[in-house]
Amino acid sequence: MTRRALHVRVKGHDAPDPVLSFETLGETFNLSEQLLKNVASLGFKRPSPVQAQSLPAMLKGLEVLVAAPTGTGKTLAFGLPIVHHLAKDKKKYKRLRAVLLAPTRELASQSGELRPEGEAGQVDTNTKRAGGGKKEKGRKRFAENVTNTVAENKDEQSGDGLPRVEDETQSVWKNRKQNECGKERRNERQRASFAEQLSVVMAACTKMGVQPQKALFSATLTAKVDNWVKENLTNPIRIIVGTKNT
Ligand code: ADP
Ligand code: MG
Repeated sequence: MTRRALHVRVKGHDAPDPVLSFETLGETFNLSEQLLKNVASLGFKRPSPVQAQSLPAMLKGLEVLVAAPTGTGKTLAFGLPIVHHLAKDKKKYKRLRAVLLAPTRELASQSGELRPEGEAGQVDTNTKRAGGGKKEKGRKRFAENVTNTVAENKDEQSGDGLPRVEDETQSVWKNRKQNECGKERRNERQRASFAEQLSVVMAACTKMGVQPQKALFSATLTAKVDNWVKENLTNPIRIIVGTKNT
C-alpha cells in the first residue's frame, strides 16, 4: 500500500517505507516477542497509518516530526520505539532513559500507558507534573521537574552523565532569565512558553553531551511548532497524516 493510500505525506531524506504489519516490524527491527505480545493483547491487528510510517522511522533512530489528528494512534507510534530502545540498551543506561515532555497534565498522565506487561522491573514510568500550587508557579517549576525526572538516574556506574542534566538545566535556565531581564525585564511570575522550556531542557542535554533521539508528535502543525522544530531538530523526517493543520 502506498503512502497516498494511507494519507501519509513524508518529507526528508532516508524516510523508510511504511510498514503495514506488526510481524514485519518485529522481524525487521528485532522486536521482542513480549513487546509484540503486548501490542496484540491491546487488540491492535495492524499499525494505523501514522504508526505504519513513524514506527520504522523511529526504530531506525531517526528524528521525526509527526503531525496526525487526535485519535490516530500517536501514543503507540512513539511508545513502542521507546520501550524497544529501553529494553535493548539495558546496559548502557541503567535507569531513566526516556523523557516524555507534554504541555498539559492530561497528556502527561498518559505516559502510564507505556508501562509494558510482562517486563516487570524492567520498564517503569513516572510522571512529574509542573507544580501543584498556583499555575504560574507551577509552570515556572516545569523545567526543574522535568530535569528532576531526568536526574533520577542516580546510578554512578551508568556513566551517562544524566544526573548532572538537572544542574545544567537549572544553570541554563538561570542564565536565560538573567539575560532576558536586561531586555524585557521579565516578571518572575510571567510564565515561560512550553517551547521555551523545552529548549532549556534540550540545551542542558547538549551541554552535557547527552544526545537523545528526539521526536515531536502533535495533532497540529502550527507556525510555532514549525519554528521550534527548526531550532531544535536537525533534518527531521516530517510525517504528516491526513490533511494539513487538522
Ligand atoms: P492519539 O494520541 O493520536 O490521539 P491514541 O494513541 O490515543 O491517539 O489512540 C487512539 C485510540 O486508538 C486508542 O483507543 C488506541 O487504543 C487505539 N489504537 C491505537 N493504535 C491502534 C491500532 N494499531 N489498531 C487499533 N486501535 C488502535
Ligand atoms: Mg495522544
